[in-house]
Amino acid sequence: MSRQKQRQIQRQHRRTAPTPPGLVPVNVDALAPYNSYGTPHFVARGYYEDIPFKCANCGNAQVWRAAQQKWWYEIAKGNVESTAKLCRTCRRREQARRQEARRVQLEGLARKRGRTS
Ligand SMILES: [Zn+2]
Repeated sequence: MSRQKQRQIQRQHRRTAPTPPGLVPVNVDALAPYNSYGTPHFVARGYYEDIPFKCANCGNAQVWRAAQQKWWYEIAKGNVESTAKLCRTCRRREQARRQEARRVQLEGLARKRGRTS
């Protein structure tokens, strides 16, 4: 087996293997303010854990990875009460749908502006 192939398999493994408990710690200072909600589960525990869920759109079984949660809560400043609802495919589709809706809306506005000026 080539070295490259080996590395590819390792990377694949890292992406699908369950995250060991405690590997992805919670940085409380980086979270969006949550005082009104009480202490979230993962904050009390001190680390993120993979969360299995079903896509709300297509029903596919999914795992919301610990590292993804860290990104969502600490980098994207997602609400601490919010969780993953859609699988990657459905999320992409939803994003594309929203972008298209926005494009159509902007085009409409531009047309209207063109008529009145
Ligand atoms: Zn889905």
